[in-house]
Amino acid sequence: MSRKQAFQFLDIPRTMPRRIPVELRTSGDWGELYGRFDKADAQYQAGRCLDCGNPYCSWKCPVHNAIPQWLQLVQEDRIHEAATLCHSTNPLPEVCGRVCPQDRLCEGSCTLEEFGAVTIGAVEKYIVDTALASGWKPDLQAVQPTGRRVAIVGAGPAGLACADRLARAGIQAVVFDRYEQIGGLLQFGIPSFKLEKSVIGRRREVLEGMGVQFRLGVEIGRDTTIEQLQADYDAVFLGTGAYRYTDGGLVGQDLKNVLPALPFLVQNGRIVGGGHPQGRPIAGWEDQIALPDLNGKRVVVLGGGDTGMDCVRSAIRLGAARVTCAYRRDEASMPGSAREVANAREEGVRFLFNRQPLAIEAGADDEVIGVTVVETRLGEPDANGRRNAEPVEGSESLLEADVVIIAFGFSATLPDWLAAQGVEATGTGRIVTGGAGRLPYQTHNPRLFAGGDAVRGADLVVTAVAEGRDAAASIITLLLH
Ligand code: FAD
Ligand code: SF4
Repeated sequence: MSRKQAFQFLDIPRTMPRRIPVELRTSGDWGELYGRFDKADAQYQAGRCLDCGNPYCSWKCPVHNAIPQWLQLVQEDRIHEAATLCHSTNPLPEVCGRVCPQDRLCEGSCTLEEFGAVTIGAVEKYIVDTALASGWKPDLQAVQPTGRRVAIVGAGPAGLACADRLARAGIQAVVFDRYEQIGGLLQFGIPSFKLEKSVIGRRREVLEGMGVQFRLGVEIGRDTTIEQLQADYDAVFLGTGAYRYTDGGLVGQDLKNVLPALPFLVQNGRIVGGGHPQGRPIAGWEDQIALPDLNGKRVVVLGGGDTGMDCVRSAIRLGAARVTCAYRRDEASMPGSAREVANAREEGVRFLFNRQPLAIEAGADDEVIGVTVVETRLGEPDANGRRNAEPVEGSESLLEADVVIIAFGFSATLPDWLAAQGVEATGTGRIVTGGAGRLPYQTHNPRLFAGGDAVRGADLVVTAVAEGRDAAASIITLLLH
């Protein structure tokens, strides 16, 4: 590398792809916020990589992408090779390039951070979008069918990553999902302004081209049984996610116009996507919520994670007059991506930090009138190093609202039909895998494997991808070695 190239980061600032102007976003544009780099911009941004010799970015990336190497291939305009390299570690690179909280992962540990980190996620998206648009496909010519068959329960990122790796090993992967489309929370959760749904449709074509089969609208434990899957397949992967809603136990949470976050996002996503608003209910919510008209309304969202950010930004696009996010800790303690918080703020969301909800208040006609909150201060760190939010006596106030959305997070649950197969879970419902005498991601039933949110609890797309991929490696060991 020439000296000029090595110091390119001094001459060329970090940039992100162009964003949809804020006026369009606040008047109801649901398109993906960030556009795509053109070739010149991608090459400029890739050329900012120092090739520092100790790629902290790769280490911090949960799938350990070969980032400096694919940045080099972008500079040389070898996009198909870059796409092949991306897929060698990550079965869903174009999705991760869009939704990873890069500021906490690869870009947050870039050596250049103080000069502006290399724009890794946007280059990853550029590589894969460009390669797929120009006909690139995974090359499976050398793959020999093994005659082995594996059932995958859940078409979320964990299940899709597992299917990709099994197909590359010549194992027939058949993916079951209770929903009518693949993607899990990518499809039914994350809004289109972060991830347009055509991206998932295109990935489905890639996977089907690799021989992966989908059986959609089939719920295991309702439409068919785990016993049947074990009879029909050599092994089963469970990528069933984490859907138990954290119940804050707030007085007034059952009032009309108090909405749980995920059904709100799912219903709305179906409408934005032009689909029928009534799809299959989310487990635990057997009745679909009625989506109120948010136009001109005052909306309060309780919770400061990724889900909360998606709710506030959706409410803005639905025409709410004022959107407030109340979070019980300070801004630095917010669990989601700082980039998403900045985008929400730019779109007009008001943040109230250090506010803990006490009760949702009803007016004379039982309609929501607001949320009583108390101010908090951060106390001593708990066993996990997290400082608890302690209420400040006498600081209660009413946050006025017409609609309240509760986004306190999710945890996993072990269904009875899995417990009956010898699968064990932690006290918080996460499936236990690995440990003495078991392969990584193998449950206490040797033919059942698991990964993603069902094992980790609610986490990230990229960690679900990593676990689905690595669980496939264990299944391959069990079946072929
Ligand atoms: P899921 O994506 O939940 O997929 C599980 C699938 O299993 C579902 O399709 C479900 O229908 C199916 N299933 C479950 N039980 C059965 C059954 N019995 N029979 C058949 N099918 C079944 N992460 C990020 O990295 N970036 C983000 O920006 C981000 N935003 C988020 C926004 C929201 C609103 C939410 C809720 C989460 C967000 N996350 C984000 C987290 C991320 O989406 C999850 O960590 C990830 O999707 C987990 O993948 P998974 O495959 O384990 O589970
Ligand atoms: Fe960064 Fe996520 Fe891509 Fe890894 S997968 S390089 S963390 S954007």
